[in-house]
Amino acid sequence: MTFDTIVIVDWSGGNDRGPTPVKDAIWACVAGQDPIYFRNRILVETWLIELFERELAAGRRVMAGFDFPFAYPAGFAKAITGTDDPFAMWAWLNDHIEDAAKANNRFDVAGALNTKFDGIGPFWGNGLARDIPHLPKKGNIRTNTDFPERRAVENHAKGSFTCWQLAGAGAVGSQVLMGLPVLHRLRERFKDAVSVWPFEAPSKQIALIEVWPTLFAGPAPDGMIKDAHQVKTTAAYFAKTNLAALLNVTAPVEGWILGVPQEKRPTPPLRNDCFAMPQGAHWTPVDVALAHLKSNLLAVTGTKTVTLKKANKRILASDIASLRAHPPTPNSAVDGYGFAGGAALGEQALTLVDGRSAAGQPYDGYVEKGRAIRVLTGAALPSGVDTVVLQEDVVIDGDQLRFHGPLKQGANARRAGEDMVAGQNIFSAGHKLRPVDLATLAATGIGKVAVRKKLRVGILSTGDELAQAGTAAREDQIYDANRPMLRSLVQTWGHKVVDLGCAPDLRDELRKTLDAAAKKCDVILTSGGASAGDEDHMSALLEGTGSFALWRIAMKPGRPLALGLWNGVPVFGLPGNPVAALICALVFARPSLSVLAGGAWLEPQGFTLPAAFTKSKKAGRREYIRARIEDGKVTAFVSEGSGRVSGLSWAEGLVEFGDEAKVIVHCDPVRFIPYSSFEL
Ligand code: AMP
Ligand code: MG
Repeated sequence: MTFDTIVIVDWSGGNDRGPTPVKDAIWACVAGQDPIYFRNRILVETWLIELFERELAAGRRVMAGFDFPFAYPAGFAKAITGTDDPFAMWAWLNDHIEDAAKANNRFDVAGALNTKFDGIGPFWGNGLARDIPHLPKKGNIRTNTDFPERRAVENHAKGSFTCWQLAGAGAVGSQVLMGLPVLHRLRERFKDAVSVWPFEAPSKQIALIEVWPTLFAGPAPDGMIKDAHQVKTTAAYFAKTNLAALLNVTAPVEGWILGVPQEKRPTPPLRNDCFAMPQGAHWTPVDVALAHLKSNLLAVTGTKTVTLKKANKRILASDIASLRAHPPTPNSAVDGYGFAGGAALGEQALTLVDGRSAAGQPYDGYVEKGRAIRVLTGAALPSGVDTVVLQEDVVIDGDQLRFHGPLKQGANARRAGEDMVAGQNIFSAGHKLRPVDLATLAATGIGKVAVRKKLRVGILSTGDELAQAGTAAREDQIYDANRPMLRSLVQTWGHKVVDLGCAPDLRDELRKTLDAAAKKCDVILTSGGASAGDEDHMSALLEGTGSFALWRIAMKPGRPLALGLWNGVPVFGLPGNPVAALICALVFARPSLSVLAGGAWLEPQGFTLPAAFTKSKKAGRREYIRARIEDGKVTAFVSEGSGRVSGLSWAEGLVEFGDEAKVIVHCDPVRFIPYSSFEL
């Protein structure tokens, strides 16, 4: 399985970039050598052929990594070629793409592919000055969602672009169109010596493999072109990595990116340095800490399909398109009489048709102009009818119906698809379903959705002083208040609670508890023992993992936050103090857990209200105080002492003060964040 030579190629979909090395061109690097610049694809194709020939002749094994998707999202290859075989798509593109140093037809091919679908089609983004038929400039007007927006692997690769986007910084769509024909030709030329991962086991002498240098390469050193740095560091990374574990993925028709963990962590998905904070700043501002978590965490959960019955609070694993229009046919918004509308000014008289249309019991016949038919709310409008007059507004005399205009054409009627059209994107991957969303899904006929498996969140209290409520406690003991609170918080947020109990201040015991927890949890929340004192064993243990960071956050309340990975599982060491534990959980753990669970980064909604208190605060730290609304004003809890648990229950939310110094007098505007904004 090992390779003698590793070459990484950073592709480009554009035209010849000239003789001087530039960014966003083609760069290649053989591990251990210097990166090479290629001004166009023709040159790199020749170079690869020569490299492969040399290596084959020398009996050496080559891994060639390319940084663009080897396949499109599920279903696309079949729609174009009649088969799910990704190589059929490679051949199709090789037949249709024309490539020369100074010009290629990629946008025209994408436009032509779009015409094969109802609506606009999946491709978008036009980098040219001229308009391309059937290729929209923007992605948000597309109505065709026959195909997923992203491949499964891209949901795990944070910040990756979709195959459908052809233009814009970082877009990869053009590279796919211009890269796959080259791979097709290499595969044809070296036939039995080539395997293409993950569709084929990489057992032959040459392996073509999809890679994504962004996964491994940090920022480029000053003065070095980013692409050159990326191919060099990625090649070096794979050269020293045990590739067997990374290559061991099941082969989806959509392909995979080498190094992205599939399903349940074959390797830790989070980088060991994901919690590392740049040194220097003595106290880390809250916003810096949040931005760090936001950009370093990613989804760690697998996916499953559930029915709507079980879908509340679940996080969508893929984008969802409506199955059919809502409403499916024009129908009546009221109880009344339907007819062909027009300029209905003044006195109107119509002859009633014998029959009616009720919800679920449509009228089959045609209603001629000048006639009207009884219709009930929700009834499909019979053909010929586009307008409904309210029953309260008419006089019936035998088979004659009279009313007084004006009545606009289309009044009291709902148009087909006025709410949603078929195939429209209604939710994006990562959205957490609410009861209202279940109505939207059901209305368009969706009974099952692909969701993330629940994030398993371990909850652990630590401290020799803790006793459990409901049991007798010594004078010197206090009751464990954090665990019941954190357990139900996590459950309310939609995750699965793994109760890890309460650990004493004994390092070995705590280590065993963490070892066991890492096997059954995706993330662990602990409280207590997070500072740097003698009995702060959580910090001490995490320190030994090499992934530990003690964040001294400029925030009150909240002592340091201890973060680290224990056997690949992220640990959030919250302060022991219940008030500080809650606030750190709301501010830091809630959005982090959401991202780990496959959802969005969450920001609580606050409201500006007048203060019913006075306060002055120092510059340089964020402050949260317990508060509630009384007579339209925000009242603060009598004490800011963070040991006072009952204040949490007195409160209805928190007042947040920014980092700057502030003097608050009565009626000054303050930002109140209700508990409900934290789903509490
Ligand atoms: P520590 O961070 O372990 O030094 O704890 C800080 C404070 O929080 C101490 O007064 C602890 O007794 C208290 N504390 C720690 N854990 C809990 C808990 N689970 N419930 C209530 N108080 C706690
Ligand atoms: Mg303690």
